[in-house]
Amino acid sequence: MLTISHLTAGTAIATKVKNPKKIVILALISHYFFDALPHTEVGVIIKQQPFRYNWETIVGIFDTILGIVLVLFLIKKFSLNRKLVFLSAFFASLPDIFYVIFSRYLCLDNTLFFQIINYPHDFSHFETPKSWWIVGILTQVLIIVISYVLIRKWSLDGQKS
Ligand SMILES: [Zn+2]
Repeated sequence: MLTISHLTAGTAIATKVKNPKKIVILALISHYFFDALPHTEVGVIIKQQPFRYNWETIVGIFDTILGIVLVLFLIKKFSLNRKLVFLSAFFASLPDIFYVIFSRYLCLDNTLFFQIINYPHDFSHFETPKSWWIVGILTQVLIIVISYVLIRKWSLDGQKS
């Protein structure tokens, strides 16, 4: 799943939950949960090894930068707690950080440590077939839109109380 989807969902978690330990757990669970929804993988799974400047890498970098910009925008717009949002956004994307950086770029796929770490990730992953890519993009647009609506609602609720 795109990094921007995970980061936005992570931001939503930190808008509602204020306990850092709960945030870490929920953010991690959110990653596997959203990866289990049918989605189109654009830049996250880099199939070419070792590191190459292929289009997937470029889209992946663009997706990550766009996600970070969106998180910063949401923090500012809704006056969110920056530390909690960064914590949540980081853990909501951590399994992909492990997967992409350590397994793909550093080619540590065969080490037992990364096989154990990546097992739940591979297990939960539901990538749509290529011909269904629109469906796989729509699920991610929905995650971003629903997260945005929830962030808006929960931040306004927080200001009232
Ligand atoms: Zn993932």
